[in-house]
Amino acid sequence: MTLVEVVWSLGIILGIILVSKILGAWLGMSSMIVGMWLTCLAAALVLAGYVYQRRRSVPKCENGICGIDDYEWTGFAKDLGVADYGDVRKCRCGRRYLWTSDKFSIITDDGRLKPYKLRVKRHWFYTWVDDK
Ligand SMILES: [Zn+2]
Repeated sequence: MTLVEVVWSLGIILGIILVSKILGAWLGMSSMIVGMWLTCLAAALVLAGYVYQRRRSVPKCENGICGIDDYEWTGFAKDLGVADYGDVRKCRCGRRYLWTSDKFSIITDDGRLKPYKLRVKRHWFYTWVDDK
């Protein structure tokens, strides 16, 4: 957890407490019950955000078929002699990729690297764009 995430989490918790007190008073309901509903809602949102981010943590493969669950880790790039750092992953189509945190490259059959996708931050989320 980074500092930003800690601050956000505390902010969300304080926000829930505050909003549930106000809403509870306004609706004439117990702020505990309102707070529980808000907590569930916040948890659902966080989970949805996590799933969304996870799906985007790797781009689709070159054929546009394989997603996050289809890549198989084959080893560290350094051990395989592909690059100095990063992971080598293989998609179901049989293509191998070099994955570093913000770059996804295709490993060609002769072992060279071909630029594929770059990770960029757009608004709140990361997304992959063509690396050209
Ligand atoms: Zn594939």
